[in-house]
Amino acid sequence: MRVVLKLGTSVLTAGTDRLHRPRLVDLIRGLAAVREAGHEAVLVSSGAVLAGWETLGFPPRDRTVAEKQVLAAVGQSRLMHTYAQLADLYGMNVAQVLLTADDFRNRTRYLNARTTLEGCLSRGVLPIINENDAVAVEQIKVGDNDTLSAFVANLVEADLLVILTDAPGLYTADPRLDPHATLIPEVARVTPEIWALAGGAGSHRGTGGMHTKIQAAEIATRAGTPVVIAPGDAPDALSRVVAGEALGTRFHASGSRLEARKRWILAEITTGRVHLDDGAAQAVRERGGSLLPAGIHRVDGTFGRGQTISLLAPDGSEVGRGLSRYASVDLARIAGHHSREIEGLLGFTYGPEAVHRDDLIRL
Ligand code: GLU
Repeated sequence: MRVVLKLGTSVLTAGTDRLHRPRLVDLIRGLAAVREAGHEAVLVSSGAVLAGWETLGFPPRDRTVAEKQVLAAVGQSRLMHTYAQLADLYGMNVAQVLLTADDFRNRTRYLNARTTLEGCLSRGVLPIINENDAVAVEQIKVGDNDTLSAFVANLVEADLLVILTDAPGLYTADPRLDPHATLIPEVARVTPEIWALAGGAGSHRGTGGMHTKIQAAEIATRAGTPVVIAPGDAPDALSRVVAGEALGTRFHASGSRLEARKRWILAEITTGRVHLDDGAAQAVRERGGSLLPAGIHRVDGTFGRGQTISLLAPDGSEVGRGLSRYASVDLARIAGHHSREIEGLLGFTYGPEAVHRDDLIRL
């Protein structure tokens, strides 16, 4: 199973106003246990601004954007240093990946980020993701790490998104105000009633609250990834959730991953067209197989890496659409060639496929 774990500032501080090392040890040990059980893990972690405050001593409240960016820039490296040290205890290597809204909007960047994360996972490296706060101002930010974690879950097509927080899960009412409030163990679909339970913002240290968590749950479940919101202070929370234990609130997937991917691929107006030879057209049409450069005999239009292109059979009929791994100029140069020649022709390679099977929709 591929799991994305999101840790908010309130979990990392364990209710204090600093990064809580013993808590961090527990969390990293939990991640190591999940990986040892054969799962893949991606961590989305907040805490940069907080770690910056810890280092520089000025609190983030009422700061200018530039000051907060300084805090984040200082704190992010401290945070990663801490994670790297702890992960080392469990024999794990970590990678820092800083993303922002453009990395999800722009298809070239999307594909590049995905390639990097897949590369980390296939080499057993634990990617640790945060928003790139040092360069992202309000207008171009995802804005909160709950939403970021849902985007990441889509990006890596996670089987599960676990959001650990300082609440036991989603309640029927605010448990601080209503003694009759009870935990909702399962949510089949994010309805307006569920939204109504989200209330306002949560703890004062993090950016989120239940609202951004419900939003994250809606984004991820629609794209086929179930989500669990669980208490970060419960012992072995992550392992238990991954093992399927009823802890916190579980949101069931409402869409399928394939549908979400299809929507994404088909949503873009295609300007690029590649003409395939008979064999390649047949492979796409009948088996939905990857398209190799060797099967392409002409490239029409201008497109970038990651853009949706149309795949045409020799008779001009459209057999499929997919995300091109190469920009049109590059694809034109490698068309008709064996994949092992790509590096020689271009001086680089994004892999042997022009369009990978996973990025291809048969029509
Ligand atoms: N990216 C922010 C940080 O690391 C946190 C954002 C959030 O709390 O959702 O400090």
